Amino acid sequence: MDVQPHVDGLRAGELRVARCGSCGTPAFPPPRICPRCATRDAAEWFTASGRGTVWSFAVFHKTYLAGHPAPYPVAIVELAEGPRIITTLTGLTTADIRVGQPVIADVDAHSEPPRVVFRPEPDGAAR
Ligand SMILES: [Zn+2]
Repeated sequence: MDVQPHVDGLRAGELRVARCGSCGTPAFPPPRICPRCATRDAAEWFTASGRGTVWSFAVFHKTYLAGHPAPYPVAIVELAEGPRIITTLTGLTTADIRVGQPVIADVDAHSEPPRVVFRPEPDGAAR
């Protein structure tokens, strides 16, 4: 699987994810063969809105990444456009994270490698 378009997007300050160019099924990272229509190598990259919801999460109690002192959340965020992305969350304590919580992407184009984290959407409680 080639995620270079995703990394290039982060460097440009955009969250680029993929869907099947044949049937539109969201998939990130894109599989070689679409699980819905079986089309091969049909990934179509696009820039997502950055809006999503927490689909699931866990709290890591060991530090695996510099800059993420334990405990820290590792979450699966379902983007508004459908793809799910594994990420971390900022701006809230691990006790305050809820499945279904609205979040928004925060792209750090200048870190090496560039990365995306998610934070609570400011007006998320109103949705
Ligand atoms: Zn497909």
